This record gives sequence, structure tokens and C-alpha cells, in this order.
Amino acid sequence: MSDPGSPERQARPGRVRLRWDDRMALASFALPGTGFALRVAGRNATEPALPDDPPITLLRQVHGCEVLMDPQGGETGDGMVLTDLSRRPGVTVADCLPVLAVTDSAMGVAHAGWRGLAAGVVRNLVSRLPGTPLAVALGPCICASCYTVGTEVLDALGIRPDSPGAGRLDLRECARHRLLLAGVGREIIFDFRDCTMCMPLLYHSYRRDRERAGRNLVWLERV
Ligand SMILES: [Zn+2]
Repeated sequence: MSDPGSPERQARPGRVRLRWDDRMALASFALPGTGFALRVAGRNATEPALPDDPPITLLRQVHGCEVLMDPQGGETGDGMVLTDLSRRPGVTVADCLPVLAVTDSAMGVAHAGWRGLAAGVVRNLVSRLPGTPLAVALGPCICASCYTVGTEVLDALGIRPDSPGAGRLDLRECARHRLLLAGVGREIIFDFRDCTMCMPLLYHSYRRDRERAGRNLVWLERV
């Protein structure tokens, strides 16, 4: 399954793969040349497996677009930028797209569902980052094949529906488009492609499991 040798060293922007541990509970991906890694705790993860020194900083996410600078954790918002590089900024998702970005002096993360994307959470994340992004990652989320939405959602995002009444929404392409508009180079975007809904062994999915769904945890840390 996994690539031989060191996939991180071979990694190029574009479509890339996470490396899962043997229990398929935790995954990681070192963003090449940055000194940072993205990590994912999926469906099989248990609390003790998560780092606690320091713990992952999380916000109270509300599908909005506010990006906070150096929050303590627990504040309301859907994105944060941390300039203390010893910390771990995280987002919880169960179909929404986690967007993660690093510069040489900060880490930023955002929780991007359609509402957040429509409201500008990606633009806000990029604009609040000090310095130029070195790498941006689009983490696991629901894929376009699994995600049918009504025209009101497509309208909110400025997308023309491919059929009357409903259409498929590709959160990744939507976020990528907004990253490019915000001045992020295509050549630094890493896209993990995994779908939370059609990969039930690895991920929680709200659309699949509804109220019973847990949350996948995605975070950045210095390596
Ligand atoms: Zn899917």
C-alpha cells in the first residue's frame, strides 16, 4: 500500500497521500522543505494517542469565516493563525474541508465547509498569515461524487449547477480556486484527495453517519 522509501522526500505539490500507522488511527505527512507536518486522527484514533504537550488548540467552530490570531483555544471561530511554533493548531471535521497553511513564522488552519467558503474563510486565513505561505494542504473531506447539494448552495458559492435543482459540490476545487484568487501559488498546494464519506475504515463522516458521526482531527505541528 504505502510507498517504499520516504514518500515525504519524494512528495511534490499536487495529489499526495497520507501515511497511516499500523492501526490506521493516526496519519502524517511532512510538508516538504517547511519543517512542519500535517497530522490526522481518524476513526480509529483514541484520546490517549493524541499529543498533549502542548495539546492541540481547537476553536468552537460555527461554519463562519472568522480567523483568530494566536487564540488560547475554545474561542468561537473557524480559523486560527498561531505564531508560537511549538503549539499545534487543529480543526475537527466530518466532511468539511480542513485547510492548513504554513509560513516560516506561523501555522494557520481553517475549517471550510460550503458556508465558510462562501463567507470567505480561505481568503481570511491567507490574509492573516504573516509572511508568504510555504505550503498549503487540503486535508480529507467529502468528495464531489458523494456530495450533492441544492442550487442555493451552488448559488452562494457562485457555481453554475450541472443539472436543474441540484449539483455536485467539490469543496477542494472550491477552496483551490479561492487560494489562487488570494495569491497562493498552485505549486505549493498539497491535495490529499481522501474522501471522508467513501473511506469508512479511516474517517468519520457526517453525511454517512449523521448524528452518530464522530469528528476527524487534523492539525499542524513542527517536526
Ligand atoms: Zn466520496
